[in-house]
Amino acid sequence: MSTYILWDIDGTLIYNSPSGGSLYMKAVEIVTGVRPTVRVESPHGMTEGQLLTQILEVNDHNPTLVDEVLFELDILAREQHERGFVRDACAGVQEALDTFQARGWTNALLTGNGPTRARYKLLAAGIDPEIFDWDHSYFGHEAPTREHLAAEARTALVDAPAFIIGDTPNDHVAARAASIPFIAVATGIYSVEQLRHTDAIVVIEDFVSGLDDVLAAIDARL
Ligand SMILES: [Mg+2]
Repeated sequence: MSTYILWDIDGTLIYNSPSGGSLYMKAVEIVTGVRPTVRVESPHGMTEGQLLTQILEVNDHNPTLVDEVLFELDILAREQHERGFVRDACAGVQEALDTFQARGWTNALLTGNGPTRARYKLLAAGIDPEIFDWDHSYFGHEAPTREHLAAEARTALVDAPAFIIGDTPNDHVAARAASIPFIAVATGIYSVEQLRHTDAIVVIEDFVSGLDDVLAAIDARL
């Protein structure tokens, strides 16, 4: 039985992009014909389905348009990728991925993104998508919240040991709801200090200084 390391993407594997929300706004504009003007507060850690539904709602559009917006979002993501869009992998994640794999653990994704977006983001940051087990990865584009996503992972992985790595208190709430231990990394918008308010089994600044602490925390629970 493998040990599953379930990685969040934004702020965890890849640094948040300053223009992160613009693709969402564009996808909504294509579907509704109107550029959204009202922004959603605290979008970090939301699933894409959740965030897009809220963007539609706060801008007085029918939230059931979310499926069409997700469809357009995938097209925009592909076009952005083809234009050579580049993202930055968070410090130390490649070594962490390699180290986990060398130990026989399974790297997988637990992300608010859909699979198409997830794949393009990884490629843009120079992370090989094949290092992840896509059959045991969980995508939130259609999940109403991150808790639903974590619950889906817990059910699918049955009794296999699993850990969630994320950068926001939302990741923690989801992990706790599914009784999956949470590992917090401060490469997103939340500081080590803020993440210590979660009950993460370990909180690290990044995977350069923190990999050994993460390995020790996981070993202690296997
Ligand atoms: Mg994140």
